[in-house]
Amino acid sequence: MLHVKNITFSYDPKAIEASVLKALEFTVAQGEHLSIIGESGSGKSTLLKLIYGEYDLNKGHIFWKDNEILGPKYNLVVGYEFMKYVAQEFDLMPYITVEENVGKHLSNFFPEEKKERIKELLEVVELEEFAKTKVKTLSGGQKQRVALARALAKQPEIILLDEPFSHIDNFQKQSLRRSVFKYLKEKQITCLVATHDKEDVLGFADRMLVLHDSNIIANNSPLELYRNPETPLIASFFGEVNMLNDHIIYAHQLKYVDDSELKARVLKNYFKGPYYLIEAEHDDTILRFEHPTALEVNSEVFLKILSR
Ligand code: ADP
Ligand code: MG
Repeated sequence: MLHVKNITFSYDPKAIEASVLKALEFTVAQGEHLSIIGESGSGKSTLLKLIYGEYDLNKGHIFWKDNEILGPKYNLVVGYEFMKYVAQEFDLMPYITVEENVGKHLSNFFPEEKKERIKELLEVVELEEFAKTKVKTLSGGQKQRVALARALAKQPEIILLDEPFSHIDNFQKQSLRRSVFKYLKEKQITCLVATHDKEDVLGFADRMLVLHDSNIIANNSPLELYRNPETPLIASFFGEVNMLNDHIIYAHQLKYVDDSELKARVLKNYFKGPYYLIEAEHDDTILRFEHPTALEVNSEVFLKILSR
């Protein structure tokens, strides 16, 4: 189990009041998949780096099982065998091939096993046909996948992924996510994924940690947070959100009906593929709702609120 115990961290050691993260406390069980979400600058990357032992904490402790994770002040070489970290800015060896990068830390004493292992990892990240390609010629997304495979090479007990699919195009993202997250679950590798993309979370994460204002504002299952978002910020992670009389209403909860108490005037239609997002005005409030077709601008519509 990972135990983050009451940690506080400031990049400026002289200004602890300017802490990026304050008194965070949470645990992650072996094999669990935790998503860390929050706006840009909320401290997601910082939290992963602290768990990796890249910086010294101002306060608190971090444990993986019985091992305390120590920062550079107490630990000459950053990092531990049982933990791997794939940074937002991955550093690979550009002048050697994909398979050489992935196998970099694998022993040469068992060449057959090494070959098999590299093949298995390249399948997980869907990069088999690039095994012999030099890394410097790859796209950003392909490099990101090499970095993932390399982190998995010597199977870690826990892996920290910072926006792991951010450079990967939409054509491949879905299948790659399924492949990587399925692999991690099968091997019961604990994984922490910093992301702002709900597609990285829904269907994969056991739990979501929401960072805001240096604190954890929510720590629960995606389903629970979707159904009972305590703040508009949490709700907006799942989709377009309306505030109506202080209630959080998702766009898909507003349904166009023949008649109702809730009247609005159509302002704009946005094509979204399977539906249109309609922007309408009710009193002085802008409402957004989903509808299968575009609606005439300036026409009056009636809306009904459906349950979540
Ligand atoms: P996120 O990953 O959620 O976008 P970060 O952890 O990168 O957020 O950053 C959190 C805050 O810490 C931001 O205000 C950022 O400017 C600041 N920060 C990040 N890295 C450093 C650094 N090396 N030195 C000083 N401040 C930093
Ligand atoms: Mg970040």
